[in-house]
Amino acid sequence: LPHGHTPKVPIGTVFPDRRALGASGVHPPFQAGIYGYSGGQPAESIVLSEGYVDDVDSGDEIIYTGQGGRDPESGRQVADQSFDRGNIGLARCCEQGIPVRVTRRVPNGYRYDGLYQVESYWHETGRDGFRIYRFKLVAEDRSRDGSHTPNSPGNASPRRVEQSTLRVVRESAVARQVKLLHRYACQVCGETLGVPGGLYAEAAHIRPLGRPHNGPDTMDNILCLCPNHHVLLDRGSITVDSQNIVQPLGTPLRAIQVHVVGQQNTDYHRTRIYKI
Ligand SMILES: [Zn+2]
Repeated sequence: LPHGHTPKVPIGTVFPDRRALGASGVHPPFQAGIYGYSGGQPAESIVLSEGYVDDVDSGDEIIYTGQGGRDPESGRQVADQSFDRGNIGLARCCEQGIPVRVTRRVPNGYRYDGLYQVESYWHETGRDGFRIYRFKLVAEDRSRDGSHTPNSPGNASPRRVEQSTLRVVRESAVARQVKLLHRYACQVCGETLGVPGGLYAEAAHIRPLGRPHNGPDTMDNILCLCPNHHVLLDRGSITVDSQNIVQPLGTPLRAIQVHVVGQQNTDYHRTRIYKI
């Protein structure tokens, strides 16, 4: 696999220009910001260039704007982006737990800053008024809680297992309450999973928690779901419309009177997460 660190290029290496960066193998193209996604592959690397109005770079955490619809001169969006090419490439990194190489523009050239995991992705209207795709990247050392191992993207999988465990462990009292109210039945399919310890369901946040979505951990932002429907909701395959119908399934959300879902949360999900 060409993913992971480039041999003989330590983190922190600075290249004077894009040509030198390309020749190193870290990021071959001289123009494109995303590389390595051809043939439907997960992307291999990205370059953060300054001046893109929608990018947010806080070091260990990056909100990266996908490709397309951008004026190369000004860096501004002049058209909607599509979910294709490098944007799908970065989404594949997220789904498969494969990290991307991140290179930053620095005053004296381009600096290779190591591997980042694509933690999530969604779409929104950018500052210039056009649809953009967004990718939350987290530095590998931070996201995996351990030291990085060069050239072994397969190491990303333990992190994903850990994450799904934490999803349950970190659950708040209000999340547990929602599951109890629904007696652990999925609000989409009605399925209840019996496990040796009793019943199992997951509390799914409609508007995601944490940066940059900052969804609330409140009952009106939580659904009781089976793991399958939790993933489909998180990834934007299903959503809930203004009539509380699960789309595109066309089935009503299984509701109980004491648990009312917030319209502002389903609106957010429908416009930002649904059908990436
Ligand atoms: Zn279900």
